[in-house]
Amino acid sequence: MKRLKKYLIPIIMLVVFEAIAITLWLTKNNIFYLLNFSYIGISLALGTFLLIKKYRHARRIVQLLVGLYMLIYLGLICGENMQIEGFWYYLFTGVFEAATIHYAVAKIFGPLLFGRGWCGYACWTAMVLDFLPYKTPAQPRKKLGWIRYVMFAVSLVFVSALFLAHVGNIERIMFWAFIAGNVLYYGAGIVLAFVFRDNRAFCKYVCPVTVFLKPMSYFALFRVKCDKEKCVDCGKCKRVCPMDVDVTDNSRKRKNGTECILCMECVKNCPKNAL
Ligand code: SF4
Ligand code: SF4
Ligand code: SF4
Repeated sequence: MKRLKKYLIPIIMLVVFEAIAITLWLTKNNIFYLLNFSYIGISLALGTFLLIKKYRHARRIVQLLVGLYMLIYLGLICGENMQIEGFWYYLFTGVFEAATIHYAVAKIFGPLLFGRGWCGYACWTAMVLDFLPYKTPAQPRKKLGWIRYVMFAVSLVFVSALFLAHVGNIERIMFWAFIAGNVLYYGAGIVLAFVFRDNRAFCKYVCPVTVFLKPMSYFALFRVKCDKEKCVDCGKCKRVCPMDVDVTDNSRKRKNGTECILCMECVKNCPKNAL
């Protein structure tokens, strides 16, 4: 029973994703959903299992397993635009598949359960940015978060304009928008990381997806919490946090609380096992 409790999170993860996989497979009569969500669920459960086992590279392994699958297989081979433009496109066409399902699960309703786990374990943009040298920000956070709302509006206006202008073959445009968007994101992400000496600068200031992720993750069920009895206020957790979260504050209003990507760096580095 004790062992079962220890591995409860990967078990829940697997069960939730299998439930989604089977439901979508049966309702949409398409085996792709069974394979797709099973693969993602197994990858995430494996990652959390390895994390519990204290394997150093657990998070990076999941990031590569899920990120490469989504970028190369779903994006480039299957031609699904999983970026925010793809979400608007499928939403406007009224089709509940590909990007709309992906957004619903990973970025809109999923965060109510696992917060911004997507950002820590699955995003293919961060998968590359996390290889850069500034894992811990070398500069204080800047007040540039407004850029993400501009990016969000630009993506919405771009796709709306295509529909309003009755542009033909939007599906093809979406494929090229996926490629161009990724090149742009990687380019901007790498430049910002070096300018601000912070691998996650793109996530903090530019990424439009956070407009969905932040409010939903405010209510997340899985959160890192601090045992105040054990904490000695050494500040190590804040120094190692890539997202500048004040994890010692247990309230939902903790500083940068909706930025937590559940990377567990604070947990690993706390000298008192208070997290
Ligand atoms: S903030 Fe955006 S770019 Fe960063 S990890 Fe999350 S989804 Fe990816
Ligand atoms: S690292 Fe641990 S002991 Fe130090 S401030 Fe953070 S929670 Fe407290
Ligand atoms: S170091 Fe802790 S508080 Fe910071 S993002 Fe990672 S899990 Fe969240």
